[in-house]
Amino acid sequence: MDDTLDPSGIRYPFETPPAEGEAIEVAEGVNWMRLPLPMKLDHVNVYALDDGASWTIVDTGFDTKRTRRIWEKLLSGPLAGKPVERVIVTHHHPDHIGLAGWFQTEFGAELVTTQTAWLSARMLTLDEQLLPTPETLTFWTRAGMDPEILAKRAKERPFNFVDMVAPLPLGFTRIREGSKLTAAGRDWTVRIGNGHAPEHACLFSDSDHLVLGGDQLLPSISPNIGVYATEPMADPLQEWLDACTHMAKFARPDQLILGGHKLPYTGLPTRLGQFVKNHEGALARLLTHLETPKTAVECFDVLFKRPIGEAEYGLALVEAVAHVNHLYLNGNITRTLEEDGAWRWRKVG
Ligand SMILES: [Zn+2]
Repeated sequence: MDDTLDPSGIRYPFETPPAEGEAIEVAEGVNWMRLPLPMKLDHVNVYALDDGASWTIVDTGFDTKRTRRIWEKLLSGPLAGKPVERVIVTHHHPDHIGLAGWFQTEFGAELVTTQTAWLSARMLTLDEQLLPTPETLTFWTRAGMDPEILAKRAKERPFNFVDMVAPLPLGFTRIREGSKLTAAGRDWTVRIGNGHAPEHACLFSDSDHLVLGGDQLLPSISPNIGVYATEPMADPLQEWLDACTHMAKFARPDQLILGGHKLPYTGLPTRLGQFVKNHEGALARLLTHLETPKTAVECFDVLFKRPIGEAEYGLALVEAVAHVNHLYLNGNITRTLEEDGAWRWRKVG
């Protein structure tokens, strides 16, 4: 085991991720595996917890032919010899819940997740859209989307859950803040995060130093915090900051955090501090930038400090709206609807 020290005090005890179809035992009975994603963030981490006679899987990857093939390889390779009886899903995003329904239907596994995660995923898999809804087009216009990109996207099939998520049959087991469960020979307590996804479950081991962090507790990349047409005035950034405060109550420097992406790490108290500092820095830069009126899209440069390509444009837009909404709802900026249909945000005073 090689320790790689980040100058900030965050350590990555496992430098090399598992190869396709392979598993690395990161703690007794806890196996780390990876599945590919066809995006810039090209992988998701999933885990198999050894329950003696069966496995509990944590998160599942997208529902694609390739991912199913890799799961079959895992199930007949490192996980061979016992069935998957339970699937814990940390949050409703497709890279995490994608194959939960498949495990339920094909293997009779029990799905364990939060109520909001289940309801969101179930609703979204049943809500296929061939074109963006009028509310989505209005939302993009209000955010100041480039008219050329808007015209193009208005004619294209948007990303649909059903494209990457297997149908979810009825029936799941609900976990919530403080829920207890046993897996991999340990007792775990559920702690709920928010901001990246509503009611996101993290599992803290009661007897050793393990945390299954999902996307709430990622190292090295900041989880996307976005506002969507479903709730245009949402303030997920406040929910994210509140969740950092909540998680800090349970965070210790020696916990091994097993996240949904990137490498396992230790140093959670430091990492939570970085999350808060990064957003506070972004909000301060934004406030200066908004001394003259700007649309949300015109805040990309100052928020991300790098050029945003078309592949990232959608994620950048929802995150920019999250930041202006937060400032607006705190009374730091005002807004005016201009003739082009976009809000111009401006610093108060
Ligand atoms: Zn994810």
